[in-house]
Amino acid sequence: MCDSIPYLKIVKGAEIYAPEFLGQKDLILAGDKIAFIGENISLGKTVEEINAEGKYLVPGFIDNHVHITGGGGEGSYKTRTPEIVLSDIIGAGVTTVVGCLGTDGVTRTMSNLLAKARALEEEGITAYIYTGSYRIPVDTLTGSIRQDLIFIKEIIGVGEVALSDHRSSQPTLEEFTKVAAEAHVGGMLSGKAGIVVIHLGNAAGKLSLLEELIEKTEIPKTQFLPTHVGRDGDLMTAAITYAKNGGLVDLTSSTPKHFPGGKKGTIDEALKYMFHQGVPVENISLSSDGQGSLPEFDADGRLTGLGVGKVSSLYEAFKAAVLKQKIPLTSALQVVTSNPARNLKLKQKGEIAVGRDADLLLLNRDDLSIDSVIARGRFMVKDGIIRVKGTFE
Ligand code: ZN
Repeated sequence: MCDSIPYLKIVKGAEIYAPEFLGQKDLILAGDKIAFIGENISLGKTVEEINAEGKYLVPGFIDNHVHITGGGGEGSYKTRTPEIVLSDIIGAGVTTVVGCLGTDGVTRTMSNLLAKARALEEEGITAYIYTGSYRIPVDTLTGSIRQDLIFIKEIIGVGEVALSDHRSSQPTLEEFTKVAAEAHVGGMLSGKAGIVVIHLGNAAGKLSLLEELIEKTEIPKTQFLPTHVGRDGDLMTAAITYAKNGGLVDLTSSTPKHFPGGKKGTIDEALKYMFHQGVPVENISLSSDGQGSLPEFDADGRLTGLGVGKVSSLYEAFKAAVLKQKIPLTSALQVVTSNPARNLKLKQKGEIAVGRDADLLLLNRDDLSIDSVIARGRFMVKDGIIRVKGTFE
């Protein structure tokens, strides 16, 4: 256990991807912040020194979509998935999570979601939440989206609002527009993103309601983050066009991907495909949909079992993107660090820079395995071993 947190640490000699390449440098961490980046720094023996030569130092990952209190329930009560534990998050290199509700906004509540986010904060990582669930009217904490954004520090947006899905509340354009307007103004007044995260199903509507809203209102495109865009070939095609025209899109790492023409594939293949189709790397993010339910079907489409989405799929996607698909390390990092930080306006997160939070990963260069995870200046994983466990683990 690492209960004592030395105020100063120095990480020496790592090759830094911030995510842009900074070269081989030393980093001084003061408390929970990055205090200085330079070369050949020596601070004497009173400081904890971490020899990071031969390793990559990269920002801690941001997972912008995790059902931290559990999700699912579509196959009745026994299919409600369990809540997450700390080691499932930090073991995957994730130092910031955004929690959300899903299909079930009745037995899963905003107050429980907020309490779980605060528990994860107490355990050492950073946790935010979205207000609402699949449905409109949105299940808020204080009675309105705007008030939730203004009064509750952890609430940074709305979602996941379901569109083009048989489980959605089938909102009209007008109902959906009211939600987006509240999020937009609430975000402005609170200095937050007020992002509207949109769960997309594989119904025929695809992105059409969102595109109609963007066309008919002044609400900027960057207010919206449609997710699960790789779940269906036609949806992926629509998402590629949407992203090439300046929209943000989010791919889910825990589920198989479907390409135009019916081919099935993996998340790293989907990422490469989108890059090849000309989607700018800045417009793509990845998230795990961790703790969400993953129904399993046999060849005849019968439900045979239920799995649970893993946050670790985010790290596996990153690794496969670099090692299998040969996507440059900087680009693979962007989609799990600086892009989500920018989309969600998390100004302290997502990049290695002076003044930012000391959320860092040390990766072994040969296989990108996780050597260390530092969250807010504290070692959570060291030498490949999880050092800090959740309260009930
Ligand atoms: Zn969803």
